[in-house]
Amino acid sequence: MTRKMTPVDVAKYKGILLHLLDHLSGDIHELEAETAQACRRARESSSDDVGEEILAVEFSFDLMERDENTVREVLAALERVNDGRYGRCEKCDHWIRRTRLKAIPHARCCIDCQRQVEAEVLEA
Ligand SMILES: [Zn+2]
Repeated sequence: MTRKMTPVDVAKYKGILLHLLDHLSGDIHELEAETAQACRRARESSSDDVGEEILAVEFSFDLMERDENTVREVLAALERVNDGRYGRCEKCDHWIRRTRLKAIPHARCCIDCQRQVEAEVLEA
């Protein structure tokens, strides 16, 4: 059985989440600048190397999208910190293992529920 979160634990994870948020917003800013630059290069370049530039643009968009999702998840986790629900599985209400929270501090579910969700996605 996983030990429940103490206020000290929650404060520690809140710090990790805030740090992560900081890091991610920095990344997004950089990616946006890179993407804008790649777009400009794609427009300016001769028809021969347009393909490669467009690939670069699509790649940055892909990364940005993933990061924005993570930012949303981190913000949701911080909301759970404020509500006192942080560290509890949203599905089964058990405490999420610390090893999992260390790897994914914004995890919504315990590993068992997460596996179940992933299995459902694969079946659909
Ligand atoms: Zn669960």
